[in-house]
Amino acid sequence: MIKIEALGGYSKIGKNMTAINVDGEVIITDMGADMERLVDFQEDSKVLTVKDSEKLIEGGVIPDDREFFEKEGMKVKAIVIGHGHLDHIWAVPFLAAKYKCPVITTLFTSKILAHLMADYNSFNLKIVRLVEGSVLKISDNISIELVHITHSIPSSTLVVIHTQYGAVIYANDWKFDNYPTLGKKPNYERLEELSKKGIAAVISDSTRIDFDGYSFSESVAKTMLEDVIRKSLKHKTIFVTTFSSHIARIKNIVEVARRFDRQVMIFGRSMDLYLESAVSANVVDRKTFPKVQRVFPLVNKALKVVNENPGKYLVICTGHQGEPNSFLKRLSAEEYSYRLSSEDAIIFSSETIPTPVNIANKGMLKKELSERGAYLVENVHVSGHAYKNDHRNFIKMLMPKHYIPSHGGIDKISVGISLSKEFGYELGKTSHILLDNQELELNL
Ligand SMILES: [Zn+2]
Repeated sequence: MIKIEALGGYSKIGKNMTAINVDGEVIITDMGADMERLVDFQEDSKVLTVKDSEKLIEGGVIPDDREFFEKEGMKVKAIVIGHGHLDHIWAVPFLAAKYKCPVITTLFTSKILAHLMADYNSFNLKIVRLVEGSVLKISDNISIELVHITHSIPSSTLVVIHTQYGAVIYANDWKFDNYPTLGKKPNYERLEELSKKGIAAVISDSTRIDFDGYSFSESVAKTMLEDVIRKSLKHKTIFVTTFSSHIARIKNIVEVARRFDRQVMIFGRSMDLYLESAVSANVVDRKTFPKVQRVFPLVNKALKVVNENPGKYLVICTGHQGEPNSFLKRLSAEEYSYRLSSEDAIIFSSETIPTPVNIANKGMLKKELSERGAYLVENVHVSGHAYKNDHRNFIKMLMPKHYIPSHGGIDKISVGISLSKEFGYELGKTSHILLDNQELELNL
């Protein structure tokens, strides 16, 4: 018997958590935050600790696993985290300890997790680091494997749960990048092997399934950056804002800056945290960033150097979604000594995540930056999620018995259902619409 319980991440994007029950033994995949609610929540209550889990559940910030825990909590054998994005990992310090089982993930993701646990005073967790490609036995009936995939954060993996019915693959999140600028291509060979052995079910990231075509490689983003930075060289300071966890993108920005003889400074606490995790997990070599100054928290001192050396610096910083406490937001509000003007260029190597809060925050930030006269460039970015044709190839490659699109709500999930029809899947029999707080028993 395989039963899949959707605890979060199916009805809307974020707050991912799934329970997969195999003959009475349960594996949980991911424990994430609803990022929009989290931003709201953090503005109101400054200091959070592990004791706030009830409050966070009530506020819709983390998955509500209370009923599930009552019913099946003691059957949970492992919690497996596929990658280090906060909508997949942030709730671990608040929810995981009560299950009294190990949390399994890669070295890099475990470093991010360690930072989160320290931030929220959560210490009672056993973290097991699993190398991509190796298989960990959980019980006589279940083994876990993490298969390398590409996305927008290093060490992204598909979680494979080996069972007597075949593998269950939890594929959140993924894209097919054949020209990654950091790390390897997806492990297609292993996916093909798994397919030959027989796959019971695939739960797949549908965030961009409604976009036609293929999602572009990170190397395309690097070329875009090179073009835009070259065109911005006349500016006194070039500010580039991007996702703190997107280490490949940050590396690309550093390399392009170096090519054009700009020294790099990196601002923002979360930038510092992710880069430190990446260096200590050997995802990037410390030497990759030889002239980079990570200046948190001595911001004003560093900005004085930037200000006094026009044409010499490129600044990488937080704030691409207009977040209230980010570097860019504070810079635009003139909280620092540096005064923006038409001599400065600001490049958004990101896209606005389309939620009402982000759209409002970003709109406000853009207005402020424009009022200061700065030259803006937006969308120097490629998505970290698979597009429609990638999904076609993914289904064709794996041909699981059951196909379950996840992420993004009914609109995106429906696109997944109709795509799967092209390959003979039948709604309710072999392809399934699963929404939050619903469970699905697979016909094996
Ligand atoms: Zn992700």
